[in-house]
Amino acid sequence: DCTIAGYDDELARAIADEGQRQEDHVELIASENYASPRVMEAQGSKLTNKYAEGYPGKRYYGGCEYVDIAEKLAIERLKQLFDCDYANVQPHSGSQANQAVYLALLQPGDTILGMSLAHGGHLTHGAKVNISGKLFNAVQYGVDENGLIDYDEVQRLATEHQPKMLVGGFSAYSQVVDWARMRQIADSVGALFFVDMAHVAGLVAAGVYPSPLPHAHVVTSTTHKTLRGPRGGIIVASHAGMGPAGEEIEKKLQSIVFPGIQGGPLMHVIAAKAVAFKEALEPAFTTYQTQVVKNAKAMAKTFMARGYKIVSGGTENHLMLVDMIGKDVTGKAAEEALGKAHITVNKNAVPNDPRKPFVTSGLRVGTPAVTTRGYMETDVTELANWICDVLDAPGDEAVIARVRDAVTAQCKKFPVYG
Ligand code: PLP
Repeated sequence: DCTIAGYDDELARAIADEGQRQEDHVELIASENYASPRVMEAQGSKLTNKYAEGYPGKRYYGGCEYVDIAEKLAIERLKQLFDCDYANVQPHSGSQANQAVYLALLQPGDTILGMSLAHGGHLTHGAKVNISGKLFNAVQYGVDENGLIDYDEVQRLATEHQPKMLVGGFSAYSQVVDWARMRQIADSVGALFFVDMAHVAGLVAAGVYPSPLPHAHVVTSTTHKTLRGPRGGIIVASHAGMGPAGEEIEKKLQSIVFPGIQGGPLMHVIAAKAVAFKEALEPAFTTYQTQVVKNAKAMAKTFMARGYKIVSGGTENHLMLVDMIGKDVTGKAAEEALGKAHITVNKNAVPNDPRKPFVTSGLRVGTPAVTTRGYMETDVTELANWICDVLDAPGDEAVIARVRDAVTAQCKKFPVYG
C-alpha cells in the first residue's frame, strides 16, 4: 500500500478536507485560482526526483535529457505567450523572481522606487519588512485621492531621489497602469524599469490588459494567479524593452537565478508551467480572461449600487478593493463574517486607511477562481449581493446562515474538479 491514506491518516484527512473546502466555499481571493488536472499531474510526476542545476543543454548533472525537453517547452511557450525574447522559468516563486531581478541589476544600497504596500504594491516592491526594503534604499509612491496612480508624483519622486530602478506592478490596484508613461519617467532619470505583472499576467497573456513587455527592461510574474498554472515564478523580457543593454541584462538574469540565488530547479513544477502555458495559448483562455474582467465589473457595479465604495471607482481587471472607511464593519470583521458564510476573501488596507494593517477598512475581491468554476455575470451579481447582505449586518447570525446556504447551493452548481 503506497497511498497516504492508511499510512498517515491525519495528513490524508487534511488534504481531503482542503479539497472539500475548495468545492463548497466560494473563492474570491484575487491571487488564487484552480490549477488544471494536467498541471497537477505534472507537479505530482517523477520529475520531482531529478537534479538539473544549470540550463537545458548545459547541466551540472547527467541524465537530464528528458527534463531538458520539459524546460525547453516551457521556455518556448512562455516566449510565445508574451511575445518576448527572453524567458527564465526556474524561479521557485514570485518573490524569488523579484529578488533575482534586484540582485542581478542593482547593488546593495541603490535606490528603488516602487508602489507602497499600503497603496496596493507588493511586499517585494520595497516594503521595510522585506529584503527589498532592507537591502535597498526604497522610496515608495502611491495613489491619489481618487485611488489612481499619481504619475506626476512618481515623476517628482524619481527626479528627487534619482532611483536606479523604477518598479511597476501591484497586488491590489484595479485600473490599467500606463506602462509607457512609467518607462518615460524611468528614462528621464536613467533608471531601469522593472514590472512585476504577477496579478495580471493571465489577462496580459490573453490580450485583455496592456502588456508591459514592450516598455519594461525586465518583467516578472507568478504562474499561479490569473495565469492559472502551478505555484512558481518566471522572468521575461523583450528586445524592445531591454534596448541596447539587452544582452548584458539577459546574462546577468541567467546567472543570478542559477547559481546566484537558487540551486536545483523544480523540474516537476517547470513541467507543470509548460503544460499551463500550453493551456494559456488556447483560444479558450482568452474567453476565460475576458469573462474574468466582465465578472469583476459586474461585482463592482453591484457593490456600488449597494452603497459600498470601490477604490478608484471601479475595475478594469480581475480585482477590486471594497472601501469600508466610515462603515461600522472593519476588514477583519468582514473577512470573518464572510468566512462563516463560506465566502473566502481577504481583508486589505485601503489607501489612507485609518485602521491598523491587521484590522483594515477594506476587502480585496477577485474573480479569477470563480470564473474558472464557470460563474457568469448573473452568478457573481447574486454573490456580490449576498456579500453586501453580510456586510450590512456582520453580527447577524441568521443572515450569515441564509447566505451560507445560498453559497453552498451555488457552489454545487459549479464543481471545481467534478
Ligand atoms: N508579486 C506580486 C505582485 C504579488 O501579488 C505576489 C503574491 O502575492 C508576489 C509577487 C509573490 O509571489 P510568491 O507568493 O510566489 O512569492
